Amino acid sequence: MEDEATDEEVTDEEREHYVPPGARSSKAALFGRDMESHFVVPRRLADKPGDLIEAVNDFHYAMMNDHPRNAFYRECLRRAIVPGESIVLEIGTGSGLLAMLAARLGAKRVVAIEASTSLAELARRNIKANCLADAVEIIPAMSTEVSREQVVAAAGGLPDVVVAELFGTLLLGESALEYLRDARARLAKPTARVVPPRGVQYAVIVECQDIAAITSVHDCEGLTLAEVNLLQDTASVVFTKQYGFRFSSVPSRRLSKPVPVFRVDFNRDEPGFAHSERTLDLVATASGTAHCVLAFWDVTIGTPVDAQPAPDWERPSAPLGMSTDPELTRNNFARDMQWGQAIQLLEDVDAANADALRDPATVDSRPPTPIAVREGEHLDLHVRFSKDSVVLQFQLQHRSNRTLSLSPETAS
Ligand code: SAH
Repeated sequence: MEDEATDEEVTDEEREHYVPPGARSSKAALFGRDMESHFVVPRRLADKPGDLIEAVNDFHYAMMNDHPRNAFYRECLRRAIVPGESIVLEIGTGSGLLAMLAARLGAKRVVAIEASTSLAELARRNIKANCLADAVEIIPAMSTEVSREQVVAAAGGLPDVVVAELFGTLLLGESALEYLRDARARLAKPTARVVPPRGVQYAVIVECQDIAAITSVHDCEGLTLAEVNLLQDTASVVFTKQYGFRFSSVPSRRLSKPVPVFRVDFNRDEPGFAHSERTLDLVATASGTAHCVLAFWDVTIGTPVDAQPAPDWERPSAPLGMSTDPELTRNNFARDMQWGQAIQLLEDVDAANADALRDPATVDSRPPTPIAVREGEHLDLHVRFSKDSVVLQFQLQHRSNRTLSLSPETAS
């Protein structure tokens, strides 16, 4: 019953975006609620939202200790801020770190919005501890519920710089584009500099026996158990954090180059992926079994925009980026534990469709077959976006077999 009460506080509009932990606190969801009564709950945690405690311990500490991430943001802010002049708006300040960096870089005024009231209070305390209370103002609210008047009153004008770190394991998985677009349109100058300015979501097909060994079964003790593969999930994107491993900790082989799934310009783009579907051309660079799609992203400053150089303010020095590519995060444990990467298992849909044509009964009873690719072959990587763009779905198909394919409705 209590859960229903919590649910009612979420409006339909909010359901279309990611709502951060602790943003909708209610008594029903306080930490320790599900613990047996003889278990001890530290007093400092007892009155806090359970989802917030979980999120802070799941990734906030790792995020704050990702020092190259912090340095990337400091450099983005350094390029965007005109000391003594710029007003900075931060969406989602958490501990207050980026807001305080902006103040230290000479921003005239910093306004930082934070959806979790518990975190907003702790950010205030951090800001006071760093003697920056005169420069940084915290607004405890969802950015979408903050008015332009509130920001102007707190900042003494409209912001010239907007900064946010709202990226998920999938680049747009925490609705960064929706919240930045809203902030750009309502809460900042039309000319405001958004940092980081842009990002790219990538996908690459990978052969990885260790992943196959935890997501399918074949022979054990001389017995085949392969029928159980009927339940293998080749429809959902799963995060390496959910499996509980670092992608770089197991041997794997890329069978293609990473391809951009989409590019985002946080200064200009509108969310436009909802419900959409696109097909990417992939060329196999090696032969092998494509066990899964691996998805990672980078965000950059100073890189070209539509084949034009980036704006001058982004380029006082070389382009700079921050990436979740496991080949680049090997020495960054904190980054892998914060974001990690997304994986989706693959199956040979053409083989399944061909069997279904021969014998329609196999549609419900046939375990998936792995998809083997040949070096040099072109493949179609289909990408589907959920209504809120928060979730993606991948499907890989041999180009030459495309005409054979059946839609799920035709097949059944
Ligand atoms: N900026 C901090 C924290 C990033 S984590 C840092 O870089 O270290 C993202 C934070 O943004 C979380 O604390 C979350 O509660 C908050 N948040 C996410 N979306 C938000 C929104 N639309 N409005 C206000 N806060 C938001």
